[in-house]
Amino acid sequence: MHAVPNIRIPYVLGYCRAGFEGECGAEIAARAAAHGLSGHVAAAAQEACAVFRFDPPVPLAAVDRVLRLRDLAFARQLVFGARHLDDLPAGNRIAPLAQAAAQFEMRFSEVLLETADTNEGKALSTLCRRLAGRLNAALAEAGLLVPEAGNAPTLHIFFAASRDAHVGISLPGNRSGWPMGIPRLRMPRDAPSRSTLKLAEALLTLLDDDERTTLLRPGMRAVDLGAAPGGWTWQLASRGLHVTAIDNGSIAPSVMATGMVEHLRSDGFTWRPRRPVDWLVCDMAAQPARIAVLVADWLARGQARHALFNLKLPMKKRLEEVDRCRGLIEQRLHAAGQRAILRIKQLYHDREEVTVCMLRD
Ligand code: SAM
Repeated sequence: MHAVPNIRIPYVLGYCRAGFEGECGAEIAARAAAHGLSGHVAAAAQEACAVFRFDPPVPLAAVDRVLRLRDLAFARQLVFGARHLDDLPAGNRIAPLAQAAAQFEMRFSEVLLETADTNEGKALSTLCRRLAGRLNAALAEAGLLVPEAGNAPTLHIFFAASRDAHVGISLPGNRSGWPMGIPRLRMPRDAPSRSTLKLAEALLTLLDDDERTTLLRPGMRAVDLGAAPGGWTWQLASRGLHVTAIDNGSIAPSVMATGMVEHLRSDGFTWRPRRPVDWLVCDMAAQPARIAVLVADWLARGQARHALFNLKLPMKKRLEEVDRCRGLIEQRLHAAGQRAILRIKQLYHDREEVTVCMLRD
C-alpha cells in the first residue's frame, strides 16, 4: 500500500478519446456526486480531455477512493490536478513548472510531459521532448524526483498549448502505466487484422497481472463470435487457448495454421457450445443491448466462465447506452443468481465503441 499524501485537490483531468469529452466528464461527475463530492465539469475543456472541478477542493485520499480509473469507461488516464498555469513565459517554462510541482510537498517517482491525443497535441510533443530533460534535472536538483521509489506518485505536466499547462499527479494502483494512457502495442506479424490490437489491449488493461496468469492459461477453451478474419482468435490461440471461431466469413490461413482453431460457419446469435468454455469473446457489430444480453445469457447459463466483448455505441446518449447495457447484464445475471465483476473501458484501439470484461466471481 502507498501512503496517500495529505493535500487537497481542486480538480481532476480525465484523458479520453477526442469527441468523448462530454461522456468522460459526465461519468466523473456522476461518480463524484454519487459519493457526495460536489463540483462541475469545466466548460472550456481541452479536446480529448475532460476537466472536473471540485467545489470545494477535496482531500486527495477521498478523490483517490471515489474516482478509480478502472471504474470509468471513458477515461484513459486520471490526473489529479493542482495548478493550471496558463501564461507560461516562452523563454522560461521550467522554473514555474518546478515551482508548481514543489507545491504538492511530495516526491515523485517520475515526471511525464503529456498532451492531448489530437493533432494539436501532437504538434506540442516536440516542445515536451525539448523540456523533458531540463525539467527532470530541475526536479532532481530540488530533491523532488526519486525514481527508485516506484510507489511514489507520478507528476504529470499536461500541455494544452505551448504556454498553457496543467500540473497534476496520478497515484499507483489508480493510473494507466502508459504515457497519455495510450498503450504502444506492436502489430503481430501473423495476426490478420488490426483489430487484434483491441483484444491485446483489452487483456492488458482490463485484467491485472494475476488475472492474466490465472484466468488465461494454455489449454483453456474459448469461443469467438464474429471471428473473421481472426484477429481476436489469433490473440487467444497465440496464448495456447483452443478457440471455436464462429463466422460466415473466412478465417485467415495464418490463424488456422496455429492448429488451435476450429472454424464454424454459424450464426453467432444462436450457436451455443455442447460443454462450457472458459472464455467467450464477441466482436459482432449489432445493437449494443442485443450483444450485452447475449453475452450475459452465456454466463448466466454457465456456458462461458468469463467474457470480453465490444459494444458499438450509438451517435447520441453514449454514456446512457453504456449504463443501460450494464443494467441489462446485471439484471440477467441476478435473475440467474450469478455475480460477475464487470469492467467497461473505451480502449485506445476502440473507436465508437467500448470493450466490456466480465469475470465470474
Ligand atoms: N474480431 C475480428 C478480428 O479481430 O479479425 C473482426 C470481427 S468483424 C469487426 C465482425 C464480424 O462479425 C464479421 O466478420 C461478421 O461476418 C461477423 N458477424 C456479424 N454478424 C454475425 C452473426 N450473426 N454471426 C456470426 N458472425 C457475425
